[in-house]
Amino acid sequence: MDFSEYKNKKKDALLISFEVFPPKDDPEFEKLKDTLARLAELSPGIITVTHGAMGKGRKRTVEVASYIKNVIGTESACHLTCIGSSEKEIDLMLEQIEREKIRNIVALRGDIPQENGEKLLSEGAFQHANQLVEHIRKYEKEKPQQFSIAVAGYPEKHIESPSFEEDISNLKKKVDAGANIIITQLFFDNRYYFDYVDRVRAAGIDLPVIPGLMPVLSSRQVIRISSLCGTEIPEALRKRLEDAGDDNRKAVEVGIAQCRNQVRELIAEGVPGIHFYVLNRTSHIERILESV
Ligand code: FAD
Repeated sequence: MDFSEYKNKKKDALLISFEVFPPKDDPEFEKLKDTLARLAELSPGIITVTHGAMGKGRKRTVEVASYIKNVIGTESACHLTCIGSSEKEIDLMLEQIEREKIRNIVALRGDIPQENGEKLLSEGAFQHANQLVEHIRKYEKEKPQQFSIAVAGYPEKHIESPSFEEDISNLKKKVDAGANIIITQLFFDNRYYFDYVDRVRAAGIDLPVIPGLMPVLSSRQVIRISSLCGTEIPEALRKRLEDAGDDNRKAVEVGIAQCRNQVRELIAEGVPGIHFYVLNRTSHIERILESV
């Protein structure tokens, strides 16, 4: 399948995607292969592989996505960040993706680093993800097959954006440039997602908006990630995580219960799919999915 199929999915079919990050070295890749085999048993539509902004964690994105597609036989997607990259570098990556017969791309700008961020942003060929989407659509013009493109959406607004209005109008630029679906940043309160879909529709965007969920693995991790991306931790969840303290086994249980409740409500509301930020782990995801 590819991302564009979300639009025509059968009413009762829920499309699941998993997001993993590439390994740092060969031994880590061997471990990831076991994880991927277990994730594939859960029958996801797609497994996506992140791409570190600015050279970090970039090297093995295509290799892992190719392994998922061509060895395991599950559809995959490469994330592609553009911050600080030249057109030539982006084209090289697109050529690799094409060569491995990967049809899906998650097109992103990438986070601006604290050090030298503005300089890097101005040196790259693209300042925003809409320009990357435009470039991909130009690149593939003469090619026999088109990519399916997902772009990022932010139910609690992107952290740099002064207002929701501006953020949604920037989302519209990515859609107009040729995106097929929107995958959201993680959130712990479904209300943000439902309100966001209303705002997206009010802006005339009719693409599927896939909710992104990240089951908690530790209290520390959730506080760090949430503050980086501006995600609110609801009071009840915060309290349960405080009670779990540094005991990660307890925190995982809190995370499973939280995510399971979110999934149940999202399914009841008829979402087209769910994207899980699995952080290269499986057992928590298996438990969430077996009980919804
Ligand atoms: P943009 O769409 O460019 O938006 C960034 C900011 O600029 C927003 O505030 C927006 O409102 C504004 N903006 C957008 N377009 C314009 C414009 N034309 N003019 C003026 N302002 C504009 N990061 C990684 O490094 N690697 C990954 O693999 C990765 N995967 C992700 C997957 C998902 C599903 C999500 C939700 C995020 C992911 N991220 C990843 C994080 C992402 O790179 C950051 O959130 C980043 O800060 C913004 O990326 P973007 O593509 O949304 O950028």
